[in-house]
This record gives sequence, structure tokens and C-alpha cells, in this order.
Amino acid sequence: MPDQTTICAISTPAGQGGIAVIRISGPDAFAICDTVYRPMKKSYSVAEQFPNTISFGHIIRQADIIDEVLVSVFRAPHSYTGEDTVEISCHGSIFIQQEILKLLVEQGCKIAAPGEYTQRAYLNGKLDLSQAEAVGDLIAASSAASHKIAVQQMRGGFSHRLSILRDQLLNFTSLVELELDFSEEDVEFADRTELRILASEIETEIRRLTDSFAAGNAIKNGIPVAIIGATNAGKSTLLNQLLKEDKAIVSDIHGTTRDVIEDTIIIDGLMFRFIDTAGIRETNDAIERIGIERTFRKIEQSSIVLWVIDLTEEPDSTGSFAGMIIEKCRDRQLILVLNKSDRLEENELEKKLEYYRHFDKDCMVISAKSDTDIVLLETKLVASAHLPQIGENDIVVTNMRHYEALSRALLAIEKVIRGLDDHIPGDLLAQDIRDCLYDLGTITGQQIHSEEVLQNIFKNFCIGK
Ligand code: GDP
Repeated sequence: MPDQTTICAISTPAGQGGIAVIRISGPDAFAICDTVYRPMKKSYSVAEQFPNTISFGHIIRQADIIDEVLVSVFRAPHSYTGEDTVEISCHGSIFIQQEILKLLVEQGCKIAAPGEYTQRAYLNGKLDLSQAEAVGDLIAASSAASHKIAVQQMRGGFSHRLSILRDQLLNFTSLVELELDFSEEDVEFADRTELRILASEIETEIRRLTDSFAAGNAIKNGIPVAIIGATNAGKSTLLNQLLKEDKAIVSDIHGTTRDVIEDTIIIDGLMFRFIDTAGIRETNDAIERIGIERTFRKIEQSSIVLWVIDLTEEPDSTGSFAGMIIEKCRDRQLILVLNKSDRLEENELEKKLEYYRHFDKDCMVISAKSDTDIVLLETKLVASAHLPQIGENDIVVTNMRHYEALSRALLAIEKVIRGLDDHIPGDLLAQDIRDCLYDLGTITGQQIHSEEVLQNIFKNFCIGK
């Protein structure tokens, strides 16, 4: 059941701005607003204002005018939350925003928790859970691709696909359960061959959705790119050039980047998540060794590996690690980045290039320090991303919670298929189908009844949404 309190929050970003919007939602939204608002046109109170209209007036504390504002009124159920809602657009001074909020709280409003408006929208049936989560993703979307997926999910594309799957499963289970009612008579209403075909179709669709998560996660959180190489090869300098800021510590002392630094940038609408790693070299220093082990783990988590090589050093400066790096990069895109080109004469450079091209004919030659050919490296990164083109109607799973639920649903439907193949009794079959239905139902919220789970989902939202 939705909360019966009336909540308020500043819905625009924290700090000073041109204007700010304070949103009030709940059964007393109009009455509370009327205690602090004097419309210019005296004949209408907020409670009497036509829905979906804006009025102009003053927010007052006793006789003092706090601000000139615009008040928008949305009447339940035709509002974002499904409740009576007022939006006060005021001037964006921090003092005014806080004063209005204080007044509203004095009059009985509760300060909204993060995501509480969207949570109420969900509880009032305005959105299902996956759509509500998409609202959070939409606000956080920082690339064209993640924006596209969030819009598609918010508009219900994913929910629709899930509801088709659930309908098919319900149909399936009702046939099997009908048999159970007639168990004495040993009838089979559900043709097992047809069920087997249907179950495989459902399995294919769930598998397609779970498989889309690798791309979806890369789109939402960035394609993971590990920057590896010997100490002092120029990894931190390169990261700073790519990020256009001094994030990683650059120094001449070997082994300075002992920990792993992550940051994201957008190139050509794609988000890349860079992971700077501790330099790889033979060492007896225990802490540095831990850093090197972590570097190898980071390689496993990345899709693209930039192996930075100092052209002024001898090719085997990573020592015995070279073979391990190549082995670890077998299943990912490995790009050799030959750095410090500014320190070599033309003929010297050619000789070194000839050597490295044996290993990677497309190796990149750059100077991280003098920003030479970093743009070419960026182009190469985009070409290596290999993300699928996302069409208008493609459903891509980007949310870890959804992915986990789909993975469980996949196991359940696989069990159904095995059960059909092994001719297991109808009641066991029905239980496995119900498990699959349950897991799919947790994505849209049909099967979520715990307040705690909901709060967990909405806690990462911003205040005021
Ligand atoms: P890391 O240990 O691989 O992270 O290496 P750093 O980025 O800390 O760089 C080590 C040293 O090499 C620093 O003094 C950098 O200024 C220098 N360096 C990095 N890239 C270049 C480059 O392209 N040209 C030159 N001449 N020096 C560079």
C-alpha cells in the first residue's frame, strides 16, 4: 500500500540555479500548499485550481513574501506519482529553496526519501518496477546508447516482452495443472511435444535476454579497458591524456601506480571505463606484487587491453610476464600501444616498429606526453568496441537485478525442458514452471512483496525523483 503521508523535496539539482522546482505529492498536497501560497488571482486556491494548469503567486511566511513563484497542479490519478501533486517553480537561490522546504515541513509535509516519488508511482500502478528502474537509468544516462536503452525500457518495451513470456508460461502451467485435477483419470491435456517446443522457445528468448547483458552492462557502465604495461611505460600519462585531466599520479619513480584507478569517458557516443593498473615487472616488493596480481585480475574483467610499451626500453622490459599477458588476452581485444615516440629518431623508430609489427601489425605509435596520435588511438578503441547496433525495438538488459532474475528463470526453464525429456510427473513440472514465472515476475515487481527489497531498489535514485 502506498504511504498516506504527503512528501516534499527539491527536484532540481542541489545548489544555486536560475530556477528550482519543489515537488509536493500526497493526499494533503493541495491543502498544505494553500497554507503558504497566495495566488495573484485571489479567486482560486490551489485546491480549486484546474488540473494541469499553472498559476502565479507568492510564497509567504506570515506577512513576508519569500518568493514569486509558479504553481503547477496535477490531480490524482493523473500525475507522475498517481497522487495529488503540486510543483512550485521558484527562483533558484539556495536560501529560497530551503525556506520553502522548511515552510512545507512546518505545515506537515515529510521530506521525501531518494526515489520516493518514483516508488509511489510504482506502488500506485503508474509504472512497473522495471520501468521505474529505467527512470533512474534515464536520469543517469550519459551516452546516446544508454539513453536509448533506458527510454525503451521506461516506455515498457522490456515489460511487454516479459509479459508475453509470462503469458506463455501461464498457459503452459494451466494445462499441466488441469491434468493434476484429473489425476485419477490419467489424462494428458498438454501435448508434451507441443510443450517441449514452447519451452524451448521460451528458453531461447530468456537466453537472448541474459546474453544481451554483456553488451548492456558495457553500454551502461562503460566498456572496460585495462591499461597495462611495464612500470614507467607511460600508462598514467596516457590515462590522463584520454581523460583530459590529471587523475593518475605521473612520476619517474618506478611502481607509483600501485592501486587501480577507474574513470570513464565518452568517445563517439560510446562509454569507455578505463582501468589504470600497477606496472608489471619482476619485483621482490610484496605490495607491488599484490598490485601486479590485481592487474592480471583486471585484465580478466576487461574487454579491451591497451598494452603500453616504452619504445626507449628493450622489448622484454616486462620480463617473464609477456607470455602471461598474451595468454590472458587471448579472449579479448589486445592493442599494443608503443609510447614515447618523441624520444626516438625516425630510423630508430622504424626498426622498433618492424619488430613490434611481427606481434601486432596494427600496433599504435603515440607519445602520451606530447599528445601525439591519441586521437588515432581513440578511433581504434571505438573500432575495437564491437558493441551491437541497437535498433528501436531491441531489448537490452542493463540492470544487474534483472540479469540475476533472468539467469534464475533460465535455470528453471532448463529444468522444465529436462523434466519433459525425462517424462517427470505433471506436479513436478508445474512447480518448475511456477519457479520460472516467479523469477520473471520479480523483474516487473509482480512477485516483490518485501518493503526492504523495494527500498533497496529505490535508494540509489536521486532525491526529488
Ligand atoms: P606508468 O608507470 O606507466 O604509469 O608511467 P607514467 O605515466 O608515470 O610515466 C613515467 C614517466 O614517463 C614520466 O616521467 C612521464 O612524464 C614519462 N612519459 C610518459 N609518456 C611519455 C611520452 O610519450 N614521452 C616522453 N618523453 N615521456 C613520457
